[in-house]
Amino acid sequence: MKNLIKRSTLIAAILVGSTLMGLAQSAAKAPVDERNVRAAMHFLASDAMQGRGSGTIFERITAEYVGSQFMQFGLEPAGEPGWDGKPTFVQTVTIERKTFEADPALKIGQTAFVHGKEILVVRTNNAAIQGKLQKLAAGEKPESGAIVLFKNPPASGNMNQAAQPFFAAGASMVIIEETAQYRSGWASIGSRKPAFNASSAKPSALIVASKESGAAISALADGTAIEFGGNVSTQANYTWNAIGKLTGSDKTASAEVIVLSSHLDHIGVNENAPGPDKINNGADDDASGTVAVMEIARALAAGKRPKRTIYFVCFGSEERGGLGSKYFAENMPFPQDKFVANLQFEMIGRPDPKVKPEELWLTGYERSNLGPELAKRGAKLVQDPHPTQNFFQRSDNYGFAIRGIIAHTVSSFGLHTDYHRVTDEVKTIDFPHMTKSINSMVEPIIWLANSNFVPAWNEGKKP
Ligand SMILES: [Zn+2]
Repeated sequence: MKNLIKRSTLIAAILVGSTLMGLAQSAAKAPVDERNVRAAMHFLASDAMQGRGSGTIFERITAEYVGSQFMQFGLEPAGEPGWDGKPTFVQTVTIERKTFEADPALKIGQTAFVHGKEILVVRTNNAAIQGKLQKLAAGEKPESGAIVLFKNPPASGNMNQAAQPFFAAGASMVIIEETAQYRSGWASIGSRKPAFNASSAKPSALIVASKESGAAISALADGTAIEFGGNVSTQANYTWNAIGKLTGSDKTASAEVIVLSSHLDHIGVNENAPGPDKINNGADDDASGTVAVMEIARALAAGKRPKRTIYFVCFGSEERGGLGSKYFAENMPFPQDKFVANLQFEMIGRPDPKVKPEELWLTGYERSNLGPELAKRGAKLVQDPHPTQNFFQRSDNYGFAIRGIIAHTVSSFGLHTDYHRVTDEVKTIDFPHMTKSINSMVEPIIWLANSNFVPAWNEGKKP
């Protein structure tokens, strides 16, 4: 087409153009567009995605979608090779799952207590566990590897949590006498063959004993040898991470890495949910965090390349014990001593009434100097107002933190009752809040990626 613009029109166009540039510059303060946030949320949390169940084909599709977006934004692929031998944006993780072929048993001398009959295997991470019996009350310390008979467990509630101090102190197994709750679920738990993901973690099992078998174990002397186990078969399960990166622009600083992450899976479909809706859409948990990672990636890829390298990673199977991030942590694509910090984004779709409307909270804020430094650079980050919830331990950041890496989760989860329910839907998302939240993190992250600030744990606060 010919250029027919007259000179006067051209001047007007330049004036309009400069005004537009002015607008574009002020718009640069809010690089993330609510429309994009809405679009991605409507896809990820749609019924079509069936709640992105951990390890399901829907989790895989989510990873491919996020990867495809990363490609569109201009990130570099950091996943496995594709059909053409070149890296893709998706990493497939194989998880070995072990299932007992027959019901496992506790063996004490000639007596065997069998799963589904005299005992229930609530959970185990090993096919075989041996140890010596120690009968302990709450607060008493087991010897390393002991099999603890819990003398006075609470009458109800979360037994895993009640037994946790024994495991933390080195017990390999905790046996609890049946509660009314376990008795009512005995047939259904007992009919399932126990299964676990293969791991190198130290043995850990929680066993419920019937009244009679509990009494029999209680009559044994401390130090009695107990053996647990059975034959297992191995199956391969999979989970998928989406990974893209921006290689840093500075020759030296580019070796240093910041990881911005979320989990892209959720808990899928629950056929037993009351009412006609069976889909756990996972809009807040954690489509919202995934969209935050995507939109920060879009903004950073479009701007001046930061000095340090940034990995954008959306993990699979967080809801099944952080399996995608565990694999990433065990197979880091860069040296661990170059890992500057991890920020995980979790549940930022709604404001938390416990903090100011604009604020986000950072799990473990008091543990390191990262939160306060980001806050100095404009991040609206404050201390987690729900310390009893242990959120620092409840997301993918924790697997990095226990390896010594400064790793926290950014959130505004106000303990709403839609958590892990079919009602965690897009219609409950506060899009202006969510967009503002993501925008508020962009500049502080750019600062971190261009600085030589190396965050550190506060005295005695390293997990
Ligand atoms: Zn989550």
